[in-house]
Amino acid sequence: MGLFSRAVVATLPLVPKFAVGRVASRYVAGETLDEAVEVIRRLNGEGAMATIDVLGEEVAERAKAEEAVDEYLRAIAAIVAHRLDANVSIKPTLLGLKLDRGFCCDNVRRVAAAAKAHDMFVRIDMEDRTTTDATLAIYDELFPALGNLGVVLQAYMRRTLADVDALPESGANVRLCKGIYIEPREAAWKGYETVRHNFVAVLDKMLRQGVYAAIATHDEYLVCAAVALLERHRVPRARYEFQMLLGVERRLRQILVAGGHRLRVYVPYGADWYSYSIRRLRENPEVATHVMRATFERTFGRNGRE
Ligand SMILES: Cc1cc2nc3c(=O)[nH]c(=O)nc-3n(C[C@H](O)[C@H](O)[C@H](O)COP(=O)(O)OP(=O)(O)OC[C@H]3O[C@@H](n4cnc5c(N)ncnc54)[C@H](O)[C@@H]3O)c2cc1C
Repeated sequence: MGLFSRAVVATLPLVPKFAVGRVASRYVAGETLDEAVEVIRRLNGEGAMATIDVLGEEVAERAKAEEAVDEYLRAIAAIVAHRLDANVSIKPTLLGLKLDRGFCCDNVRRVAAAAKAHDMFVRIDMEDRTTTDATLAIYDELFPALGNLGVVLQAYMRRTLADVDALPESGANVRLCKGIYIEPREAAWKGYETVRHNFVAVLDKMLRQGVYAAIATHDEYLVCAAVALLERHRVPRARYEFQMLLGVERRLRQILVAGGHRLRVYVPYGADWYSYSIRRLRENPEVATHVMRATFERTFGRNGRE
């Protein structure tokens, strides 16, 4: 990332919300469930599956967590009603993890039980390191009875190779991603190549253990390494999928689908789009250009003139 981009990324919280909104619209399906349904219908038409994320993070009140559960129940009903090829992804802190672990566990159970009634899978997203143990504990507690649950492991975490050992012996379904939160060096590998190296090592271990692998990356190097590992371990098509975020690397997505791989797109929607978008913008090295263009267009008119 160039110096200028890095400077803009550092000052993103100061960027006007409308400018973030203009650029962010590619990463978010919209504010409503209906908009998410339309996006998923289009993705399904292109041969991609989807997972719905109701936007929002860490709640401070139980009522907010319960609202999130209700929204997930509506999302599950919509997937069924519209016969979409989709499932849901949930964030523990949105479902009350920081308030009370037992309460969060009950909320995850409610969502997973509603999905299970329709043979639908539920993914528990992984957040920052302060939530890792509790998230894995909720998964361990609920998985044996429900079965339709999976977790996420982050390749940048030093603990992740060991976490693979603790997965259930059969039926484990894990999304592997690099990891998005800013973690201290004691907890996380830091170098770009180092994280790639660990991603490959963890994926290799997962495949050797027979874990269903949801390979979540837009990094062509890792896609290439994953394809080689899948071939080496003779993993059948039904035992893995690639995953990408809405609005990122559409071309690579199409190439993988055309190549016969199953691929799922993460489709976030909801009123709480701002913090999600800021995280996505931080990752994108071209962020500076887009945000600045949106700001200048708004301030000076479409051509950047006053
Ligand atoms: C389906 C899915 C689910 C995820 N779930 C979690 C989770 O539960 N917990 C968690 O911590 N993280 C999660 N992540 C985020 C993940 O950890 C990474 O931060 C993110 O995917 C970027 O890593 P990358 O492997 O694509 O590699 P990068 O090296 O970051 O990106 C590779 C290339 O992809 C493109 N690219 C990447 N991001 C963007 C962007 N925002 N805009 C435009 N282009 C971009 C660029 O061309 C870049 O060079 C998820 C990612 C995906 C795809």
